[in-house]
Amino acid sequence: MSGSGPQSFDAVFVGGGVIGLASAWRATQAGARVCVLERAEPPAGATNVAAGMLAPVGELSYGERDLLTMMLASGALWPDFVAEVEAASGMSTGFRATGALHVALDRDEAGELRRQHELQQELGLEAEWLTPTRCRELEPGLTPTFVGGVLAGADASVDPRALALALAAVLREAGGELRTGTEVVDGLWDGERLVGVRTAPSGELLAVGNPVGDKGLRVDVHADTVVLCNGAWSGQTPWLPAEARPNVRPVKGEVIELRPRAGEPVPAERIIASERIYLVPRTDGRLIAGATQEERGFDTTVTAGGVHELLREAYRVLPDVAEMELVGMVAGLRPGTPDNLPIVGRGAVDGLVLATGHFRNGIMLAPITADAVAATLAGESVPASMTSADPNRLSLVAHRATKDDGLAGEHTLGATR
Ligand SMILES: Cc1cc2nc3c(=O)[nH]c(=O)nc-3n(C[C@H](O)[C@H](O)[C@H](O)COP(=O)(O)OP(=O)(O)OC[C@H]3O[C@@H](n4cnc5c(N)ncnc54)[C@H](O)[C@@H]3O)c2cc1C
Repeated sequence: MSGSGPQSFDAVFVGGGVIGLASAWRATQAGARVCVLERAEPPAGATNVAAGMLAPVGELSYGERDLLTMMLASGALWPDFVAEVEAASGMSTGFRATGALHVALDRDEAGELRRQHELQQELGLEAEWLTPTRCRELEPGLTPTFVGGVLAGADASVDPRALALALAAVLREAGGELRTGTEVVDGLWDGERLVGVRTAPSGELLAVGNPVGDKGLRVDVHADTVVLCNGAWSGQTPWLPAEARPNVRPVKGEVIELRPRAGEPVPAERIIASERIYLVPRTDGRLIAGATQEERGFDTTVTAGGVHELLREAYRVLPDVAEMELVGMVAGLRPGTPDNLPIVGRGAVDGLVLATGHFRNGIMLAPITADAVAATLAGESVPASMTSADPNRLSLVAHRATKDDGLAGEHTLGATR
C-alpha cells in the first residue's frame, strides 16, 4: 500500500478517457484509493469523437477472432454496466439496444456482405439476412435502390460523451479523485521502480503565462501503481524507458454530426451501415456519420475531403440526410496497435500497468477492460477473454507492425470506427 496524504494513492491513472475513467471507477469500487490525471476536461481524447457503436456482430472482421471474443464478452457486460452507471450518477448515457442494419448498395457490396453473414452464422452470432423490402419496413428512410441487408439485432450504441460525464460523476461519487487540466510530464522513480508521476497544468493555464518549467506548478503524485491509459498518446511517453513504452500509434478518424430540422423526424431508428459508412442515431435526435481512417501522426484537422466523402456516402444510404442540419465535424485519434488488439496488463517496469491500444473499439471494450485493470491492481487474474491483450505478446507482432507501416498516409473511408 502507498503512504497516506493528498498526493499519495494506490493507483494513479494517466488519462481520463473512457478507459481511464471506467477502470479507475472499478478499482475504487474494489477498495483502491485512486486518482485520474487528465490534461483536458472529460469528455476528451478519442472518447469525445467516437460514434459509440457497441457492435461486435455487425463490425465482425475476418482474422480477428481474439478481438471478437473480447468484444462479445464486453458486450455481455454492457446492459448491467450502463444500468449501474446511470443509477449511480442519475445521468443518461444514451445507451440504445436497437440493433444495427448493414445494407449492400450494389452487387459487389452484396457479395462481401454475404461472406460476412456466412461467417456470422458459422460463429453462431445473431444476424439475419433481409430483403430490401423487409429492410425498408424496418427503416423507411433507406435509399429505394439496394440489394439486401443483414440485421444484427443485438448490436447497440451509447453516447460516449454522455458516458464519460457519467463515469466521471460515479468515479467521484465512489470516492475516486479526478484532476482535470493536469498533464503528466514525468515519472517518479525509486531505482528501477515507477512510484508515481509528476504533473503540470496543461493547455489553458499554460496559455495564460504559467510556464511548464515553473517548479512551483509541478506536483508529484505518488502511487503504488501508475496505469498508463492515455490512448493514442501512450506510445509517446518519453519519461518511460523505451522498452516499457507501448507500441501504440495514432490513427486519425473524422466524423460528422447531423440533426433533424425542427419538426422533422430522425431518419433512422438503429445503426445503419454500408461498406463505406455508418450512421448512429442518438437518443436526442442527432445522427453521427463516420468515419474516415488515416495515418497522419497527431494531426486532427477536419478536412473538406473527409467531410465530403462522409456526406456523399451518408446520402447514398439515407437520402433524407440532405435535409438535416450539419451541426459538427470533428476528428480524433484512435490508439492503434500492430495487431488491432488492446494492450492491458502489467508493463515492462515494476509499478506500471498498461490499459491502452483499444483502436476502433475502446468504447465497446470499456467494461471488460475496467474489470481487467481492477483485477490486475488487486493481484487477481484477468477475465479469460482478456488474456490476448497481455502486453507481453507485442514482441511477437513487432515484425508485422513494420510491414503494415506501408499503409502510412493512405486515406480510406469505410464503416470503420
Ligand atoms: C472517429 C472515431 C470513431 C470511433 N468509433 C468508435 C465506436 O463506434 N465504438 C468504439 O468502441 N470505439 C470507437 N472509437 C475508438 C474509441 O474512441 C477509442 O478506442 C477510445 O476512446 C480509447 O479510449 P482511451 O481512454 O484509451 O483514449 P482517449 O479517449 O483518447 O483518452 C485518452 C485521454 O488521455 C489524455 N491524455 C493524453 N496524454 C496525457 C497526459 N500526458 N497527461 C494527462 N492526460 C493525458 C487525453 O487528453 C485523453 O483525454 C472511435 C474512435 C474514433 C477516432
